[in-house]
This record gives sequence, structure tokens and C-alpha cells, in this order.
Amino acid sequence: MNAEQSARRDLTVAFRWAAKLEMHEATANHFSVAVSQDSQNFLINPAGRHFSLVRASDLVLVDLNANNFGIAESQLVDPTAINLHGQLHKLLPHAKCILHTHMPYTTALACLRDFEFLMLDQNACRFYERIAYDRDYSGMALEASEGQRVAKVLGDSKSVLFLANHGVIVVGNSVAEAFDEFGS
Ligand SMILES: [Zn+2]
Repeated sequence: MNAEQSARRDLTVAFRWAAKLEMHEATANHFSVAVSQDSQNFLINPAGRHFSLVRASDLVLVDLNANNFGIAESQLVDPTAINLHGQLHKLLPHAKCILHTHMPYTTALACLRDFEFLMLDQNACRFYERIAYDRDYSGMALEASEGQRVAKVLGDSKSVLFLANHGVIVVGNSVAEAFDEFGS
């Protein structure tokens, strides 16, 4: 199994588990994983595919430098996903895998005014100094500049970003690392 095939397998498992754990929103939201050293090539879920039904072969290979991002006409990817995930992959070397959802409990927390995740117990402390907050919800990522803004807020040392009135982004060096953070 080559690197792309194993990335496809790992990300597919992440989709299936997110569905199993009710941390998904059916066909909305995106997970992606870089398959090139510079993260300019990454796999992401196609538009319209339910998280519980994602297959390794469904994942679309995006090439940020190619015409139409290297996406075939028969494939559809939500442009907001390209703007957000593409810029995060491009600008943040530690964001090899990016998991973005509107999972209910986390999104509820993100809707609280001036919300801050407090280090109240041992499990919480794993996130010490690893959480960033985007307190300026600015709508759908219809331009690459929104992805650039979000990348700046997350920065290159944090792994979790609470998006006010929106949801959460978790990044990691691998699918396993990001999913462990996501599920915690
Ligand atoms: Zn979202």
C-alpha cells in the first residue's frame, strides 16, 4: 500500500468513526489529509457523500497548483472546503490532517460569549496552550482570504480552533493524531 492509499484508508476510517460517534453533520463538513510533502496535494471528501458512507475511493485528490485544483468534472468538492482546508494545508506545516465539523456539543460551547475552555481536570489539561479561538465569525469561506485569516488565528503551534458561532477545526501531523485530539 503506497502513501496515498494508506492516507485514503485512514481518512475513511476517521469519517466512519465520526459518524458512529455522532460528531458529524451528514454530508456537510470536511476532513482532509495531505499526501505530498509540501501539503499542496491533499485528499478531501466529495460534496454530497454522507460521512457514514465515505469510501476510500470517493476521496478527491486536490492539487492546489493545478487548473481547477486537479478536480475532474465528474467530481464535486464544496469550494468553501478548498478555501479553508487548502489555505490551512498551505500555510501551516503541522496541519497534515484537518478535521472540521459542527459537532453539537463543541459547537454549543463555541456559541457562548467569550467562551474559553478551562483546564479544570486532567483530561482538559492535554489541551493546555493548544487551543486557539476565532471570535469573529465571518460567514462561509467563499474566498481563499478567509482560509488565510483562519490559518493566522490558528497559528503554527495550536491544534484546536474554536470557531465562534460555527464549529471546530482540529489539526494534526497524521489522521490518527488529529482524530485522537478531535475525539477528546
Ligand atoms: Zn463549517
